[in-house]
Amino acid sequence: MKKSNNPRPRVGFHAPIKGGLHEALIVAKDTGCDTVQIFSRNPRGWMAKPLTESDIATFRKTRRLTKIRPVLVHCNYLVNLAAADELMLEKSRASFREEVERAILLGVDYLVVHPGSARGSCEAEGITTCSASLNAACRGLEMGKLRILLENTAGQGECIGHRFEHLREIMDACPTLKLGVCFDTAHAFTAGYDIREDDGLQALIQKIESTVKTKNVRAIHFNDSRAVYNSRVDRHWHIGQGHIGEDALRRVAQHPRLAHAAFILETPYDDPRADLQNLNMLKSFVSS
Ligand SMILES: [Zn+2]
Ligand SMILES: [Zn+2]
Repeated sequence: MKKSNNPRPRVGFHAPIKGGLHEALIVAKDTGCDTVQIFSRNPRGWMAKPLTESDIATFRKTRRLTKIRPVLVHCNYLVNLAAADELMLEKSRASFREEVERAILLGVDYLVVHPGSARGSCEAEGITTCSASLNAACRGLEMGKLRILLENTAGQGECIGHRFEHLREIMDACPTLKLGVCFDTAHAFTAGYDIREDDGLQALIQKIESTVKTKNVRAIHFNDSRAVYNSRVDRHWHIGQGHIGEDALRRVAQHPRLAHAAFILETPYDDPRADLQNLNMLKSFVSS
């Protein structure tokens, strides 16, 4: 067999958990995915139904059978680890700790989280608060193989994490957590990293290398953008139909420095056929 230095990237999408968490693994397998991302709970509520022994056993067994890897959990949307408000910060840290505990119980590989919004303070303070939150929320937990991935943001509102330098600072402030990175293409584009042309992508790869390092980019949220360049607006869109475009996204999917990462589609669910179309496009990019 021919040996390649650049194995084909693993591909998958954010799958629904309506039929139970393990159903997402089955859907991923049935659609020819290697990897998958899920929520481990309702992403828009503070309260999470505790995982039962049976939920955990079924999930782990289905995981062994389907061999889907890596499995990513995306943190719920209410958590704000950079919150300036004391009460919000306390709730966020508790909820994030619960997310980490659930991810450990399920035996998943990665937990993806946005660094948060510094509304009411400033970016520098938001970065410090986020780092302290990560350390506090994980204190005393046996993380095992679970790795937390910081996602770059569009910089909407007062969200931190729209520069890779922010992520580097947070990683440096949490040395025991060995944080990784999830690179969202749509967020980077609207945050002002112009990846439409090859030289722009090369510049971004250089930026990532000199800050968080490409080897720490364990996942890529592979999305086109409905929002225009540098707008700081977060609107994912179907592959090839947004402002980033097919050629630019193909270059991302085929970049040798990113080939080790799990490529996850987070394109809109408006039409189930669109999901498969997006997946087929991603598959065609990585195998050509
Ligand atoms: Zn996200
Ligand atoms: Zn994302």
